[in-house]
Amino acid sequence: MKKKAACCEHTDLSSTGIACPECTEGEIVPTRGRFGLMWACSARRKCKFWLKTRPTGKHCKHKRNRKTCGALMMEGTKTIPERCSDKECPNHNPHKLQK
Ligand SMILES: [Zn+2]
Ligand SMILES: [Zn+2]
Repeated sequence: MKKKAACCEHTDLSSTGIACPECTEGEIVPTRGRFGLMWACSARRKCKFWLKTRPTGKHCKHKRNRKTCGALMMEGTKTIPERCSDKECPNHNPHKLQK
């Protein structure tokens, strides 16, 4: 019996089945990148879309300029709850939104 490395966090590495919002061709899949695990578009030879954490499959409902943001939501970290993947969206930093 091999012991699992203690550093490994419990992360679901199954494919997400979520279509890439950028090119709509690829799918968001777990990828080992230079900076560790990331979630990137499977068509990444031509598409640069990626996320730091697993997308949840939900879409951001935050209102911006009278439109709903609609970007993919992604899992948060220990300190940040689920958040919008769009860095331009205020909901990207929901911990700062809370009053
Ligand atoms: Zn893509
Ligand atoms: Zn958003």
